[in-house]
Amino acid sequence: MKILVTGGAGYVGSICVEELLQRGDEVIVFDNLSEGHRLAIDPSATFIQGDLNDSKSISLAINTSEPDAVMHFAANALVAESMENPYKYFHNNVCGGLNLVNAMVENGVRRLVFSSTCATFGTPDRVPSDEDTPQNPINPYGESKLMFEKILRWFDQVHGLVFVALRYFNVAGASEKYGEHHRTETHLIPRVLQVALGHLPNAEIYGTDFPTPDGTCIRDYIHVRDLASAHILALSAGKSGFYNLGTGGGTSVREVINACRKVTGHAIPTIGKPRRSGDPARLIASSEKARQSLGWKPQFENIEAIVESAWRWHRAHPAGYQD
Ligand code: UDP
Repeated sequence: MKILVTGGAGYVGSICVEELLQRGDEVIVFDNLSEGHRLAIDPSATFIQGDLNDSKSISLAINTSEPDAVMHFAANALVAESMENPYKYFHNNVCGGLNLVNAMVENGVRRLVFSSTCATFGTPDRVPSDEDTPQNPINPYGESKLMFEKILRWFDQVHGLVFVALRYFNVAGASEKYGEHHRTETHLIPRVLQVALGHLPNAEIYGTDFPTPDGTCIRDYIHVRDLASAHILALSAGKSGFYNLGTGGGTSVREVINACRKVTGHAIPTIGKPRRSGDPARLIASSEKARQSLGWKPQFENIEAIVESAWRWHRAHPAGYQD
């Protein structure tokens, strides 16, 4: 197939591009490099530097490349930033996405895989959370992704756009070549590994008084390569749908830090910090629907294996992508 990948220079996008190329697909990466890295773009992919907010640019990219399907990763994805700058999140994630689906329909491209998020649930009233869990986002990031999910429903109904929205829980890990490098790193695993690399003095624990067995937040960590395999399965879904993606297991912040100690052999000192605003105590996915309907089966169900792959990448790229 020929796939156009928006955000293909980002963390999850770059690893999906790698897997698509490995299975013999032709890939066009469309990315404005605001968050992504040129060095994360596989040299076998065609690269178009463009911005989804420039409707002409995405329209031209789709018109000239004539893809069979689009994978849409390009977005801003930091909860705290969205609480300070909601305009950026609604503008880039909603308006940019709308330009994309409009360009797809205009050019007769009717298949989309969209990276959505468990942040659309807010503080879920069911854990593990299945697809029918009520969606009540508690920050502009989650709201912007939910708005785009709703746009997709209407584009399916009105224009016959077949979409698969994959709601990720906590993505982590790396492939051999590509890994996680955010210019501002807020995520737990890369930050803890920065302590092991000697770049940060302590691992900070945001909240030690949550109603969980060890007092720290529980999350469902999913390996980025398992996420990539779900995207590839989603390309051949017969109809539109929403899927939650996690392993179904919960790991606390302290358990993640212990796994990092074991994998790196570094002591990793910690300090307790206040809770981060908007952090629910427990987020765990029920991914039964993805397993049943897409035939998805995660290969990495153990936090140490996930951390090990991230550590391998960070050790090989201590300063991330240097571009
Ligand atoms: N966290 C932490 N210290 C850090 C970064 C994150 O204690 O330096 C906590 C955070 O409060 C949350 C969990 O780790 O409970 C996962 O956070 P992350 O930012 O990786 O993902 P999120 O769950 O926000 O998508």
